[in-house]
Amino acid sequence: MKTVYVLGNGQLGRMLRQAGEPLGITVYPIGFDAKADTLPIAQSVITAEIELWPETALTSELVQHSNFVNRDIFPYLADRLTQKQLLDRLQLATAPWQLLKDENEWPHIFSSLGNLVIIKPRTGGYDGRKQWRLSKDKTTLLPNKCYGEYIVEKIINFSAEISLIGARGYDGCTVFYPLTHNLHQEGILRTSVAFPQPDQMQQAQAERMLSTIMHELKYIGVMAMECFVTPNGLIINELAPRVHNSGHWTQNGASISQFDLHLRAVLGLPLSQPVILAPSVMLNLIGVSINNDWLKQPLVHLHWYDKEVRPNRKVGHFNLTDSDSKRLTIALKELVTILPPEYSSSISWAIDKF
Ligand code: ATP
Ligand code: MG
Repeated sequence: MKTVYVLGNGQLGRMLRQAGEPLGITVYPIGFDAKADTLPIAQSVITAEIELWPETALTSELVQHSNFVNRDIFPYLADRLTQKQLLDRLQLATAPWQLLKDENEWPHIFSSLGNLVIIKPRTGGYDGRKQWRLSKDKTTLLPNKCYGEYIVEKIINFSAEISLIGARGYDGCTVFYPLTHNLHQEGILRTSVAFPQPDQMQQAQAERMLSTIMHELKYIGVMAMECFVTPNGLIINELAPRVHNSGHWTQNGASISQFDLHLRAVLGLPLSQPVILAPSVMLNLIGVSINNDWLKQPLVHLHWYDKEVRPNRKVGHFNLTDSDSKRLTIALKELVTILPPEYSSSISWAIDKF
């Protein structure tokens, strides 16, 4: 079996490595400054866990590699400008937007996008970082360097946030997981819930959208699409050309996890439709130290990333899966008592889904 190198050595690379083990696939997550000449990369397949990377000796060599899967798609989707242009060109619904070119545009922006707008950096933001909500009286607070480097979006009054994780193989076949329901607070994903039987209309609409995108890009591997639910159907928030936090539940709630599926796709192995046997809940552990008491709850699958704990940093997650929703609900209620108080609102949100 071939070896896979993952550009980036965060938790996504770590979980790709873990998924490769039972399949006999060796996965090496690598930092940007790893020494290329000491790595046997010539015969390997290259993928990435992040969309953007600095230019280093290693990354300069990797971008020349003939087996760097989706190489040109990463920078294309990493820039919100080209990503949004793609969605517009494919006539897929997305939050109305425009590039923030210069300050003379503000009157037009507020008249077309509303009195309060959201601005997002073209590249480099995650977990809602570097995003602002701006009203007319606040535009002067924006540093000059933001012009040309940010897009402005209309604030969508959504009823819910969902995501679709899918994969496409070299033969153009696609497979999808059921839609995931997501709770974000302050721009960070807190909790996801997925059911074996999703809403058929929403699932079909989302699959049509993501298929269109993956086919257009001739994409290989797992891609995530985040959407807002509105009375007029789904609106795409953003795309991620990689395994995604809202797909972590598949590690314990699907016959093939998103990490396994991505490795299969990039290596040209069979892309079978994952089977989902029971509802799942994923709870992100954010800025919290590990606590062995968590393991007293038998439904908890703990995935700990072994990262330094810092405020607002994702350091692990729990997956809970059970076909008995009563038992799952009881387990979630128990978690409220062993996690810090700020987790209780997202746990209640998950319980309300059952
Ligand atoms: P990540 O990469 O971690 O998903 P991000 O930094 O790329 O996050 P977005 O997904 O663009 O950020 O936004 C984070 C959250 O902010 C969204 O999940 C949503 O809750 C809210 N949000 C973003 N854009 C809008 C919008 N146009 N209208 C209303 N809410 C929004
Ligand atoms: Mg997002």
